[in-house]
Amino acid sequence: VTDLAPPIESILVVDDSTVQRHFTLGLARELGIADLREAVDGADALRLLRGGATLPALMIIDLEMPAMDGIELIQKMREHQLCVPFVVASSREGSLVSAVEEMARVLGLPVLAGVRKPLTKELLVSAFAACRNFEAPSLPVPPKDSLPLEDEELSDAIARHAIVPHYQPKVDLRTGLLRGVEALARWPHPKHGFVPPDQFISVAERQGHGAIHAVTLNIVDQAMAQAARWNARGLRLSLAVNLSPLLLDAPDLVEELCSLLETHQLTADQVVLEITESSLPRVPGVALGVLARLRMKGFGLAIDDYGTGFSSMQQLSRVPFTELKIDRSFVHHAHCHENRRVILESALEMAHRLKLVTVAEGVETIEDWRLLQQFGCDIGQGYLVAKPMPAAALPSWLKGHRKRLTELRACTQQTTALNIDGEIA
Ligand code: C2E
Ligand code: CA
Ligand code: CA
Repeated sequence: VTDLAPPIESILVVDDSTVQRHFTLGLARELGIADLREAVDGADALRLLRGGATLPALMIIDLEMPAMDGIELIQKMREHQLCVPFVVASSREGSLVSAVEEMARVLGLPVLAGVRKPLTKELLVSAFAACRNFEAPSLPVPPKDSLPLEDEELSDAIARHAIVPHYQPKVDLRTGLLRGVEALARWPHPKHGFVPPDQFISVAERQGHGAIHAVTLNIVDQAMAQAARWNARGLRLSLAVNLSPLLLDAPDLVEELCSLLETHQLTADQVVLEITESSLPRVPGVALGVLARLRMKGFGLAIDDYGTGFSSMQQLSRVPFTELKIDRSFVHHAHCHENRRVILESALEMAHRLKLVTVAEGVETIEDWRLLQQFGCDIGQGYLVAKPMPAAALPSWLKGHRKRLTELRACTQQTTALNIDGEIA
């Protein structure tokens, strides 16, 4: 243990328990660290980090603390671009610790390890080693617009209603039957082909309320028209659309969406509005009112990309959500990643307790599909079932899909009721 030169220079231990904090600091001192710092909770740690002194070389972060807990602290450090390698230490069950560790890793945060307390010298020594070998990852940055798209070009496309929805099937995990579709915006561009939304939604959001409002409402309008056409042919599908959080502070949104329903003769219970989890902590009071009113009108409300936003249960319970969509980073290859599996299972368990419909996005393999069936997830969406497609392609996809029902069905399902899915006339 003692021949481990050069020691790291400084450490910050964040723990509300004085006994635990001093114990850890004692170990660090014995291992030759001179600059020992301590904080009693997340808020205290954040003050120290932002206080102007040099950042510590390493942090040990407890999970459960009053005022600001470890998860919130990690989130805040990310927000303020405070890049300090850290170890998550908790006396809670190992699965919780590994869940937090995996979450931090998926988000590109500098997590070295997740460990159960009490810490030992050996654990600290290996954290030091990891710390010395640690290369700061670039903190996650908002997606760059990699295509040379002109702002005017986008405004023009929006004004011409040139941005169109494609549809990705959402399928019942037990039976394999088609339940609904998610409308995903596509910009058919003369030079760049179908430009994906990641490249232009953020541009529209930056252009301001007018632009993002126009794209979104127009996609909703086109998608509702399409759902009404499917209804007329006996194919009643739940329709999911994505709402930018920027739209939620305009109270008119409720009336606008309701009047679109009326135009297309749809009922609100056929429509699910998806809002990304990471936007929730910033959702102001007005937006909570808008969401509550949308729910009262009968729209379904889904938390999108769940797992990437560090929401606490309390934050989630502020909004009357009806559906939880687990982000694909926790679904993809969950069958062979212990940590993802743990997150997936606990998220599903929580959602079921909150009586939410559960959706797994990004299902690409049959092994992940089976795992989701085993965990009792309700709906699956992903390339295994289908990629997003133009409305016109849905009937022939559905034909092919019927042949796969035996493969997709849960092993316990009987061969009954497989043809209740709407026929396209
Ligand atoms: P999202 O709501 O999370 O949509 C799911 C994304 O995952 C889609 O990307 C979809 O094509 C992709 N995907 C689905 N299954 C799989 C899979 O098995 N594997 C992989 N690797 N990917 C899969 P897309 O269409 O590029 O959309 C990106 C994001 O853009 C959406 O993420 C959504 O947040 C936003 N978006 C899309 N349409 C709209 C819109 O009309 N309005 C607003 N405000 N945002 C939109
Ligand atoms: Ca979505
Ligand atoms: Ca998503």
